[in-house]
Order: sequence, then C-alpha cells, then structure tokens
Amino acid sequence: MRALLVEDDSDIADDVARALTSAGYLVEHATDGESAWFLGDTEDFAIVVLDLGLPRLDGLSVLKRWRAAGRAFPVLILSARGAWTEKVDGIEAGADDYLAKPFEIGELIARVRALVRRAGGHVSAQVTIGRLTLDTTRMSVAIDGAPQKLSALEYRLLDYLAHQQGRTVPAGELAEHLHGVDGAADANAIEALVARLRRKIGRDIIETRRGFGYVLSGA
Ligand code: CA
Repeated sequence: MRALLVEDDSDIADDVARALTSAGYLVEHATDGESAWFLGDTEDFAIVVLDLGLPRLDGLSVLKRWRAAGRAFPVLILSARGAWTEKVDGIEAGADDYLAKPFEIGELIARVRALVRRAGGHVSAQVTIGRLTLDTTRMSVAIDGAPQKLSALEYRLLDYLAHQQGRTVPAGELAEHLHGVDGAADANAIEALVARLRRKIGRDIIETRRGFGYVLSGA
C-alpha cells in the first residue's frame, strides 16, 4: 500500500519513512505543501501522514483543498503544535487522527494501521476473508489457520486486496500500490506475482475477473 509522508524536517521524515517502510508501506515523500497537494490530488494513497508547518503551503490548507476536491484517503496530522485548538482545526479540516510532536514512532505506526484498517472496513488487526487470515500487526498470513511463508511483495498484494471491501482491483492499480507510479512494474508483473502466490497458497484465494482485475475469494 502507498503512504504519502509530508514532512519538511528531514530527521523526522527519515525516521517516519523508515518505520512506514518496515510496516510494509511504499512511501512517497513530499517536503513542501504545494508538491504534497499535487501528489495527493493526482495519485492514490492508502494513508497520508501530514505535517502542518510546511514551506509554500501549510498543511491545513493542503488538507482542506484535498477534501474540497473529494480526496477521501485517511489523513493523520503530525504537528509540533499540541494546542487543542489546533487539533480541532485539523479535525474540522478533515483529518482522521492527530499526533503531536514529539511522538513515539511505534504509536504513529499503530495509528496509521488503525486508520488504514478502518478505511478498509475492518475493526481489528486481524482480517479474515474467506479462508484467508491476515494479521496486519505481524504482517503474517494464514490459510485455514495454517501460517504461510510469503515475500514482502506477496504480503502487500494480499494486504491491499483485503482492504478494498470486496472491490475488484485492476492490475494497473495494484502495480501502482506495490511498486509506485514510477516503478517498472506493469500488469504482466502483477499477473506473474499472482501466479506465484497461487502456487504457494492455493489457486482459489485470489479470483481473476477477466478484463477487470483481482478480488479475494469470499470478499
Ligand atoms: Ca514542519
């Protein structure tokens, strides 16, 4: 899944990007409000971590513009300003959660996971769809209760499909979420990845809807 990190402080950005990457996210990083607004307006993200004090355009204005344009991704605001009025402003502008600096990176990741989970229609860290169970905290997968040994990319594909509430996902969208917009992957690479996954976890877990894309069976 793709995460957009908007943060102009390079030390914080490095820490957060590293933690998000180890949590299984493909991280896109913007360092100013203008480029953040453009990225969020034109590309698709599972979660946005947004600093408020930014060069060129402040975080609150970025968020208001996204929401006005109908961009619905979950947004976690990150700010040095811990005052309650700032929190109210952020939440009224359309933020889903708020974390004041300094923060524990573990708490940030837990909150990000909870937001992504809720956006995908799940209330707990354990997601069960048909025979598949995904533990989004441990990043592990079981089929009929039996643990599966998967690569990070294989896990990310199942994780993304599990958060779409039964929507059939086009291969191009999967490629974008697994490899990024500039990634070399295309529909063929996704087809190969799905084939590899099917050999590991069984043919019937991921269904192909010809001409439309992929969906988890039982979703
Ligand atoms: Ca800042």
